[in-house]
Amino acid sequence: GTDTAELEDGPPSATCFGAELGHNGTEKATLVMLVRNSELHGALSSIRMVEDRFNRRFHYPWTFLNDKPFTDDFIKYTSGLASGPVEYAVIPEDDWSIPDHVNTTIMRAEMLRMAKQEIIYGGSLSYRHMCRFNSGFFYNQEVMRKYDWYWRVEPGIELYCDINYDPFTFMRENKKIYGFVISMYEFRDTITTLWDRTRQFLNHGDYNLCHFWSNFEIASLEFYRSEAYSRYFEFLDSTGGFFYERWGDAPVHSIGVGLFAPKDSIHHFADFGYSHPPCARCPQDDESHTSGRCVCSRNKNFDSDSYSCLPRWWKVNRGTGWI
Ligand code: GDP
Ligand code: MN
Repeated sequence: GTDTAELEDGPPSATCFGAELGHNGTEKATLVMLVRNSELHGALSSIRMVEDRFNRRFHYPWTFLNDKPFTDDFIKYTSGLASGPVEYAVIPEDDWSIPDHVNTTIMRAEMLRMAKQEIIYGGSLSYRHMCRFNSGFFYNQEVMRKYDWYWRVEPGIELYCDINYDPFTFMRENKKIYGFVISMYEFRDTITTLWDRTRQFLNHGDYNLCHFWSNFEIASLEFYRSEAYSRYFEFLDSTGGFFYERWGDAPVHSIGVGLFAPKDSIHHFADFGYSHPPCARCPQDDESHTSGRCVCSRNKNFDSDSYSCLPRWWKVNRGTGWI
């Protein structure tokens, strides 16, 4: 009968082995991690988490960036975990150095002052290079040129939920430019004149210190490569503020996106459960939890922390459905 015919049909169809889950991602997109060799362990645990929760079904390429050559161990262990192609690139010296116009005597004095005041990373030069690189250079790295989209991943993060769809496709289809999970206030002392400089560039406005927490980003590379953003970055860089102060890439990206991207092109990934110590947030709806998609406590939710900017986000983005 028909039962036998089915049994004799040969090997089980590929769907039995999760072919539905096995389709490759189709966007020009990469998972990108700027990382030091010394952070190997944190890098591996982040890759494991992103692979398990998302990329094992999409196999997007990983791009690893470093100001120093990656060690053989770093390459061996990270490429072993990635389910897609891997690429390792050393950042050109110009993209990780102090520009000539910066007065290093003033810079050193300011770094010392900030260190004494215990301003977070205030005394660190490498952190300044990192922030400047993430503000104005990552999207133009040779290895990034072939991509339109990136998902920034840092060592030591956690994802609490399965991501069963392609967020890059979502971004493209919905004309989104910038996606974030956590938003909070910046430490005023790290960006004393960033807003004045921005106003100088633009001639108006006021800054509430809110920024998207840029250790997670899914966003358009084309946006950063645009003339508006590039000119904004070049102007900021010309003031030396990345070195005299300690401007973070988070407020720079956030202000840039706020100024040059349409409001409805910014997306809050409210379905993502995410942690970058010391902050974490968990989807608040029932379905994310009853479906088994997420494992996190709904009480652990930075969105409702007094330091979160999400209440302000919701106020200006009423109607986007994330309340
Ligand atoms: P925090 O998240 O603000 O505390 O800063 P992190 O130490 O996590 O740095 C942000 C990102 O830049 C992480 O992905 C780090 O791995 C990376 N990073 C920071 N400093 C350096 C550095 O000197 N060299 C390299 N290659 N990566 C760095
Ligand atoms: Mn970090």
